[in-house]
This record gives sequence, structure tokens and C-alpha cells, in this order.
Amino acid sequence: MSIEGRPFGTGMEDAGSRSLAALAEPYRIKVAEQIRLLSRPEREEVLAAAHYSGIHIDAADVFIDLMTDSGTGAMSSEQWAALMRGDESYFGSRSYQRFETVSREITGYPHIVPTHQGRAAEKIITELLVRPGDVVLSNTHFDTTRGHILHRQGVPVDCIGDWLWDFGDEREFKGNFDLKKLELALARHHSRVPFILITVLNNMACSSPVSMQNIREVKSLADRYGVKVMFDACRLAENAYFIQQGEPEFSGVSIQDIVLEMFSYGDGCWMSAKKDAIVNIGGFCAFRDESLAMRAKELLVLYEGYPTYGGLAGRDLEAMAVGLREGLDQEYLAHRIRQAAYLGRLITEADVSVSRPVGGSGVFVDVRSIYPHLSAEQLPTVAFAADMFLEGGVRVGGALFPMKTVDIGSGNIVDRSFEFSRLAIPRRTYTQGHLEYVADIVARVKSKASENMGYRVTYMPETMGHFFVRFAPVAG
Ligand SMILES: *Cc1c(COP(=O)(O)O)cnc(C)c1O
Repeated sequence: MSIEGRPFGTGMEDAGSRSLAALAEPYRIKVAEQIRLLSRPEREEVLAAAHYSGIHIDAADVFIDLMTDSGTGAMSSEQWAALMRGDESYFGSRSYQRFETVSREITGYPHIVPTHQGRAAEKIITELLVRPGDVVLSNTHFDTTRGHILHRQGVPVDCIGDWLWDFGDEREFKGNFDLKKLELALARHHSRVPFILITVLNNMACSSPVSMQNIREVKSLADRYGVKVMFDACRLAENAYFIQQGEPEFSGVSIQDIVLEMFSYGDGCWMSAKKDAIVNIGGFCAFRDESLAMRAKELLVLYEGYPTYGGLAGRDLEAMAVGLREGLDQEYLAHRIRQAAYLGRLITEADVSVSRPVGGSGVFVDVRSIYPHLSAEQLPTVAFAADMFLEGGVRVGGALFPMKTVDIGSGNIVDRSFEFSRLAIPRRTYTQGHLEYVADIVARVKSKASENMGYRVTYMPETMGHFFVRFAPVAG
């Protein structure tokens, strides 16, 4: 009846079993892209040449790529058809109008500003709203969001509960704000808080959802202190699906209506359309307040382009308009969330600990459960990524991310980090067979894990270091 304790209401209740019907993809494959598994000696050579970081491996050398779900999904035949409708007029393009209509309907916000991807929207919003010394309070910030706030000399604080760090804490809405942390931070810093940021949901916080109940409570605290609420809307549909399945009040309510209610508690949002709008490039911000939108458009012209294309081609706007709707489709979402749950279950069966309940868009592995003999300095996350590639040509992500959170005892802002490996699942891209292969590789990695002596850093720049870092194995 449920996987990971979550009910599924779409008539495919045995989805957790290995029976073929269970995960029948609600699409068929129209264009095949060849993938190739290199031989073991080739994989060894490739990994060494990539300084033992998956980021430096050529995509052609990867068999199954679970590094990210960003921009890596498969567009539908409807989206490809929409590309042909692209109106490439510089001013007043029809494609913009179609995109604007859909994003207004979906977010409920009247003022839409397209950008080429999510971080471009973040750059504009933080430039408008964050001043040096400001404190931005979020459940969790995505890494580019954190980067933009730091770049503005602001302080990004993650008010998620300490349960995030406990892979075994099985609460349903693990992405929720700890309201006590939020209240402590507001009481102390409210005059310097430009907005509260609700990330629905964050691929850096185990893709765990935020409940509507929590969103309402955050909104009422925000109102009490007169602070704006903004949403990072990247995975708005996945979050809405979890609300529908997990909060009895929303059982039977459409994903679209749930999304509208979520955003009704905010003043605006931004979105990387590379996530739940299932496009390879695109993004936007949306505002309730016209004057803020006008200022965003001024900056947009400097950084991205005129407001009716925002750094995108007209055809990209068309693909986003179609993808935004497809991303809210009930059957598509049920399958997507079930894929993550299924992979999570198979990995758990291999005696590897993952964040539970498994969230949207991927599976988060507690690497300490694979390499108990490695200390943090021996980089077990790097070891796991290297082993996954060596054993099966599978590319996975993960790192140790610096965060700031609130210490409940003292109310102080304290440093904390979060380390995980992430098997992100691209949208409409891999099948049940691929997931079972990945789980088999995880099991093989686990069985040989004691042979891995760990890794060390050989190069690490200060900004966005995890993108450029190099490693070497510790000699055994
Ligand atoms: C991907 C992502 C972003 C940044 O968007 P880009 O399109 O990669 O620039 C921001 N927030 C969240 C939660 C994301 O997942």
C-alpha cells in the first residue's frame, strides 16, 4: 500500500515490488540515445584523468548519469513540437505571451520575468533585496542561492530542523522549517531580514518536501514580523505531490490547486525551469508587486535581455510553457516519485542507509554506512562516487556543503555542514532496468568498500570549490 510509509493513490499500489507493471513508465521512448559502458581498465584510466571527480569525466564515458536532475530530463513530443512555434521577434513575441499566460496561471503571480536559468533570477532578486549584513532565513538555501546572498554580503541561514542531519529520522515532511529556529532568528534579526525563503523542494536537503501546514505557519510568523515571503520554486510540482499524498486535507486536490495555495502565502518566487518544467534551459521570477517587477526588469535588460525573452530564444519560452504544465501532471509525478522511492528501497535492501522517507528527484546516501572505516578527512563521499564509476560507469553527485543554522539552545547562528552522496534521477530519462542496475552497482560497491582507503584533496579554489576540486586516492 505504501513505499517508505507514503501512501500512493493512483492504482499502482504494488509499485515497490519488482514486477514490471509496478514502474511502467507513463511514456514511451521516441528517440534513443546510445549509452556505452566502458571496460574496467578504461574506466580506471578515465577516472584518474578526471582527478577522481565525476565533474571532470566526459559525459560520453558515463553509462548512467545520476549527477544531477537539472536540465537533463527528456522533453516530450509536445515540447519539441512547441519549439517549432517559437516566435523569435525581439519585442512582443507570441512565445513570450504564451509563456507568461501559463506561468501566471501556475504561480498565481501577475508579473513574470523570464531568465535563462534559476541563478540568473537569484542574481536579480538578491541585488534588489539583499543589502550587506542582511540575514536571509530559509528552510534550506540551494548552493547558488547561498552563493548569491554571500556575494551581496548577506548571511544565508538554514532554519531546517536538526532532523535533516539524521538519515534515519523518518518524519514525512523533512524539508520543513523548524519553527522554533525561525522564531528565534526573527526575534533577533527581523529588522535585517529582507525575506524568508521557502525552498520547495531542495535537492541539497534530501529533496524532502515542505508541508502546507508548515508553509502557513511560516507565513503567519512572517506577517507577525512584517517580513516578505519568497519561494524558490524549482521543484514546485514534486512538493505539491507530497502535500497531496501526505496531508489528508489535500487528498484528491489537484496539483495545480495545491501549487496555487502554496504560492498564495508568498510575495513572489523564482524558478529554475531546468527542474520541474522539464526543459534543458530556462527560468523565471514572478512577483505580486508591480514596482518590484519593474525594477527586476531593469536589471534583466542589463544582465539577460529584454523582458520578453530574458536570455532565452522564443522557442525556449514555448518549451517552458508546455513543460510547466506537463510537470504538474498527476501520472507523471506519481511515476517520478515512485522511481525515487523504488531506487531508495533497493539501495536500503543492499544494507546502505539512505535518507528516509525518500524524497522527490533522487536518493540521498549516508556514505558512512558504506565506509565506516573512513574518517571524514578520508572523504567517503568522494570514495563512493569513484567506486560507483569504477564498478559500473555510474556517475553520482554529492559533497560536503557548508551551511549556517540556528542553535536552539543559544539562539545563535552557527556553522554546520551536511555531507551526502546523491543519486539524482533525471526526468523521463531512465527506466526501471536502469535503476535496478544502479542498485546492483551500489550493492557491489558496498561489498568491496573495505578495500577503499579514502581520498584526499589536491586542489580546491575558494568560490564554488566543489565544482573545481581535484582528488587523489590515499595510498593503501
Ligand atoms: C537548480 C536550482 C537552483 C539554480 O538554478 P539553475 O537553473 O541551476 O541556475 C536554485 N534553487 C534550487 C532549489 C535548484 O535546484
